[in-house]
Amino acid sequence: TKVLLTGGTGFIARHILAILLEQGHKVTTTVRSQEKAETIKKYHPDAKLDFKIVEDIAAEGAFNEAVKVEGLEAVIHTASPFHFNVTDTQKDLLDPAVNGTNGVLAAIKKNAPSVKKVVITSSFAAIVDGPKGNRPGYTYSEKDWNPITAEEATQNPSDGYRASKTFAEKAAWDFVEKEKPNFTLTTINPPLVLGPILPPVPAASSLNTSNQRVLAIASGAAKSSGSIPETGTFLWIDVRDLALAHVKALADGDGKRFFATAGYFSNREIRDIIAKKFPGLKDKVPGEDAKGGEYPKEGVYKFDNERTRALLDKEFISLEKSVTDLVRSLGIEGA
Ligand code: NDP
Repeated sequence: TKVLLTGGTGFIARHILAILLEQGHKVTTTVRSQEKAETIKKYHPDAKLDFKIVEDIAAEGAFNEAVKVEGLEAVIHTASPFHFNVTDTQKDLLDPAVNGTNGVLAAIKKNAPSVKKVVITSSFAAIVDGPKGNRPGYTYSEKDWNPITAEEATQNPSDGYRASKTFAEKAAWDFVEKEKPNFTLTTINPPLVLGPILPPVPAASSLNTSNQRVLAIASGAAKSSGSIPETGTFLWIDVRDLALAHVKALADGDGKRFFATAGYFSNREIRDIIAKKFPGLKDKVPGEDAKGGEYPKEGVYKFDNERTRALLDKEFISLEKSVTDLVRSLGIEGA
């Protein structure tokens, strides 16, 4: 299949790219600069891989040229900001997420009529009802939508991120309903994504957001702060399973959302895994008696991941393997 992958430099996208190329798909990926294209190309020297430069997905018509790929059949849209160091939530988070999604879909409809299939990386952020807290006894599934409003979206960066994913995914389903394009849509909604970084491995300071808690626990930052960080979201998936779900969704799952989670985790469990697997990091990892990172006493929500289980048709990668492979990939001294 000829596939366009947006945001090819991303933590998750690099894994999607690796699977697509390994399976023999012909891939074009968008990156923000020629320099970034070169860094990705270096790791796939012999691959059927092309690049298009899309500097800012929020810009009007950003994808109009990028989708012009002869015989293009499918698009996987992953590019979207996921970080909390924002000065202007609207400009830094909401616009790229929503305009990027609307923009790529409009560009496909207009300039790439051969595309039959679009897969978008949404998030558990578009499912979870944050203010309801840990909701013991409640089961989250694909039926749930985050009810966050436009006013709530700009209150703080973390609500801004959740809103950006919610509004972007809604925009995508609305687009399909209103515009009745040639393609079908699938969205993949993962909670926290952990797992190994494919090269080039970034400096610790620019590690992608979801893996930062593991780095903090493994590198000494958590220990010097005196506690294990609070877990926040208690569901996760390994990046390799998530990437595979995107690729499998190219052939399956038209018109569906996939709540892609392997199950529960806590930051304390991450600590325990690192302590057990990396004795060389003993001085950096918080001790067994450190406080924090536990599951809440009252319990947490349940999850229904049946649809994703069926799509993947394999065992989920375990938290132990995910965290171990991630720590190894980071090249932390002593690990
Ligand atoms: P990364 O930060 O590693 O990747 C984000 C990608 O989006 C990068 O390629 C980045 O380009 C690109 N991007 C961001 N903003 C812009 C912009 N304005 N213009 C052009 N490109 C832009 O994060 P992940 O790989 O973790 O995230 C990928 C997707 O998965 C996102 O949609 C995210 O919301 C979603 N997701 C991630 C989860 C996680 O836990 N990691 C959980 C749930 C969903 P560059 O590198 O050049 O800045």
